[in-house]
Amino acid sequence: MADIDIAVVGAGMVGVSSALWAQLRGHRVVLVDPAPPGSGTSAGNACTIATYACLPVNDPSVFRDLPALLFGRGSPLALSWTHALRHPLWMLAFLANCRSARSREISRVLADLLSRADAGLNPLIEAAGAEDLVEARGQLQVWSTAKGARGAEAGLAWKRSLGVPFEEIEPDAARQMEPGLALPIARAVHHTGARQIRDPEALVQLMHARFTALGGETVAERATAMAADDAGVTLTLGDGQGLRAARAVLAAGAFSRRIPGGGAERLPLGTERGYHLMFAGEAARVTRPVGWAEGGFYAVPTARGLRLAGTVEIAALGAPPNRERLAYLARRGAELLGPLPARDAEWLGFRPTMPDALPVLGPAPGAPRILHAFGHQHLGLTLGGLTGRIIADLCEGWQPNLALEPIRPDRRFF
Ligand SMILES: Cc1cc2nc3c(=O)[nH]c(=O)nc-3n(C[C@H](O)[C@H](O)[C@H](O)COP(=O)(O)OP(=O)(O)OC[C@H]3O[C@@H](n4cnc5c(N)ncnc54)[C@H](O)[C@@H]3O)c2cc1C
Repeated sequence: MADIDIAVVGAGMVGVSSALWAQLRGHRVVLVDPAPPGSGTSAGNACTIATYACLPVNDPSVFRDLPALLFGRGSPLALSWTHALRHPLWMLAFLANCRSARSREISRVLADLLSRADAGLNPLIEAAGAEDLVEARGQLQVWSTAKGARGAEAGLAWKRSLGVPFEEIEPDAARQMEPGLALPIARAVHHTGARQIRDPEALVQLMHARFTALGGETVAERATAMAADDAGVTLTLGDGQGLRAARAVLAAGAFSRRIPGGGAERLPLGTERGYHLMFAGEAARVTRPVGWAEGGFYAVPTARGLRLAGTVEIAALGAPPNRERLAYLARRGAELLGPLPARDAEWLGFRPTMPDALPVLGPAPGAPRILHAFGHQHLGLTLGGLTGRIIADLCEGWQPNLALEPIRPDRRFF
């Protein structure tokens, strides 16, 4: 028998949430990651507990916009055609999930998960004593063109039918809420139930500190292989050492496929790359996360300054940062907020994304002692806490109180 109950690979929002939930339930947990907790994609996101964001990128409009995506430079969604040609199956599965009926089915599953997100996250915020990092002013979504405002109608009606709370507000009222907006506003929606984390990296660090205080251990090494048998799982670490645990959780985000034996190498895990720019002294430009629909990014007041974060680039994990994408954010940020000073920092992150935009959660096919917990695409900050609670349930043999079929690792992905 292994001394360790659960080894968690990856100390991002998803891995640390899983580790803390399990440690709070009294398990002996070891967290494995060569990088500091929360320093990956979980650090640089748009800081929003986006419980409203159930409409996936997979949408029938992608078919209409495909030529512009492949060859245009002014779109919030960019696609590397060389990457697409190298990964035709991922691309075809992604496109198959853009069909109207499939897109609606995905949003139904996401809405159900998101309705439970706070219940998974709040106990961790409380355990970590991180309440000061949380703001509850909702999220403001704006459309700047009449075409965009009209085009939003069907999606908003569908969200309403799924029970997502939001208020349509007049453009003048939106301007009063956020006087820093320099754009014309054609339509505005206040997602009243959304919250913001002022510093997502600090949240993960506080959760990790609580995990450690409860007796959890951290090994600052890379997992290079996983091997499961009937009694447990052996991890091989970067220093050549082995680590044995009764169960292992694979939560290495977009990098989960790179660990042989974990089972993710057989799944179509891709990445949607996203960028941010930081402006240290400019946090007061907005008072809550503001999403600009046509621009495809958010302006967020964080503890470290104003953050412009978002856009989607479908390209390789290892490709260098795309300067055009950063220039796009800077240019469009000035359209949203008026002139901005020179940026203090820029960042590229890797959303872990399946072609059906749903997370992967549950026992690895053929290796039930390895639990998959990755693929949270645009919603890992929001759904990390819930994921951790589900992982703890599964480790204890409990059936979580939600349907796992649509997110299990052995589902069909198109
Ligand atoms: C621009 C942008 C904006 C976003 N905005 C939001 C938002 O507002 N709200 C929201 O909910 N989500 C948002 N997201 C998505 C969210 O950030 C991700 O879904 C989330 O961070 C994924 O968390 P993770 O723990 O799976 O991955 P990560 O945070 O990437 O963590 C993975 C960890 O695994 C480790 N690792 C990798 N390989 C190994 C290995 N071999 N051995 C051990 N460890 C390994 C890495 O070092 C890393 O620490 C945004 C993403 C981007 C890019």
